[in-house]
Amino acid sequence: MRILVSNDDGIYSPGIAILAEVASEFGTVRVVAPDVERSSAGHSITASRPLSYRQTNLPGLQGVKDLTAYRVNGTPADCVALGAHLWDKVDVVLSGLNIGLNLGNSTWHSGTLAAAKQAALLGLRGFAMSAPSGMEPDYQPYKPWIRKVLKILLADTSMRLANVNFPRQPRGVVWTKTSVRLYDGRIVPTKDPLGRELYWFTVKPIEGAEEGTDRWAVEQGWISLTPLRLDLTDEATLADLRARIPLDEAVAAAISPPRSSPADVKTVREDEDEAAAPLDESASSDEASPSGAVAATAEGSGRIRTAR
Ligand code: MN
Repeated sequence: MRILVSNDDGIYSPGIAILAEVASEFGTVRVVAPDVERSSAGHSITASRPLSYRQTNLPGLQGVKDLTAYRVNGTPADCVALGAHLWDKVDVVLSGLNIGLNLGNSTWHSGTLAAAKQAALLGLRGFAMSAPSGMEPDYQPYKPWIRKVLKILLADTSMRLANVNFPRQPRGVVWTKTSVRLYDGRIVPTKDPLGRELYWFTVKPIEGAEEGTDRWAVEQGWISLTPLRLDLTDEATLADLRARIPLDEAVAAAISPPRSSPADVKTVREDEDEAAAPLDESASSDEASPSGAVAATAEGSGRIRTAR
């Protein structure tokens, strides 16, 4: 099994070292991670300048068999896209161990989760793992728990994307859903030395998470495993809206073919490209295949082109 390991804390984080070490028990590990910390970078990609990488040594992991590591001047999502491009047939992407939990609505801006999401976008499996920041830098006690979680995640290939959070002292592992009822982000004003207004975007404590959610599980000492999906469509609301407020769906279905013509496809692809670069014809004619999906995603960045 080929396991690509990334994170958003940067390649020299103690969290990525422990995850890479345990992952190496399950297969061949290649670490591809940001050269500096990119926490809260979300799913941003670097589209306005090229990416490059350098091979590097991870402290304490020189002796781990078949483990190589590369640092990239980009975001977590960049690292996964570039790593999957340069290393054929990646089976799974692991992101973490993040220094700090990613519970509830933090999944929206988490760079740790973005690396796992980028894997899912590329048709790979992606798993994000986060641990309490207070446990840094000694994540050694988590080793048996990481091993247990990887056994669960890697064994069932129906799960494509998941968010994992470890409590300080795990009691076991439970399946959860994301707690989105309460949001912890807020702006806190302050002043600079000259009295000018400044603002911190920070988080406030949340209490009262619902049973069965990721936050509740970690509060109770359980390792939280939340299966996720990429499709954000609100299916129930969509069905309701189509029934109550029909728009032009009937006309569209009557006069528009189920599959767009190559010319229609090309026009929209051009409109998606910020740089208006010439499009690769071979990529647009291969939309149905997984490799076509890779090409489409990679072209969106305008930088990484795949030949797979
Ligand atoms: Mn982080």
